[in-house]
Amino acid sequence: MAEILLVVDEIIAFMPEGNLPVPTGREVIEPTNTAIRHAKQVGIKIIKANDSHPENSIHFDTWPPHAIAGTPDAKPPVELLHDDDMTTLLKGTGPNEHGYSAFEGRSQDGTTLDDMVGEGDTIHIAGLVTEHCIMTAALDSASRGIKTRVLSDAIRPFNEQEAAAAIRKMEDAGVVFSSVSEFIATHPIPQ
Ligand SMILES: [Zn+2]
Repeated sequence: MAEILLVVDEIIAFMPEGNLPVPTGREVIEPTNTAIRHAKQVGIKIIKANDSHPENSIHFDTWPPHAIAGTPDAKPPVELLHDDDMTTLLKGTGPNEHGYSAFEGRSQDGTTLDDMVGEGDTIHIAGLVTEHCIMTAALDSASRGIKTRVLSDAIRPFNEQEAAAAIRKMEDAGVVFSSVSEFIATHPIPQ
């Protein structure tokens, strides 16, 4: 059974200094790094799914321009752990794509999440933004029969009220919320 740690949209665009800022966005980095370090120790694959939009994206009819491909806004903050074992999927890359869901993302060689996980597998999700791309990824994951767990202390919202409604919707779909320390406790390092 495959098990994946999915890090969603931890890029400059959604940091306080970015073009679509989550005021508390930077707070996801430390718990995400903790989860990444542990995932590596227990052999859980780490996948990042990041917005990377063209300038003429229809997405910008809804949102201020952000995460334009090739600009610093589309890059992860330097504090976020990264190495060559991790796969990055880019989403929203076509002019007619919103790219809310990590399942729409593709790696450089065309790999998608559906190539890596399916029914009965497990995904742990961290990142931004709770009531948008976290919710979309979690609902798409749960609808595929994937055991879907959101790392509750490694997500942040634009809006607390909308996030609370989003969390109820995810829970109704069978998504489980638990902390990074619970993730660590339930995945002991092999002796
Ligand atoms: Zn976007």
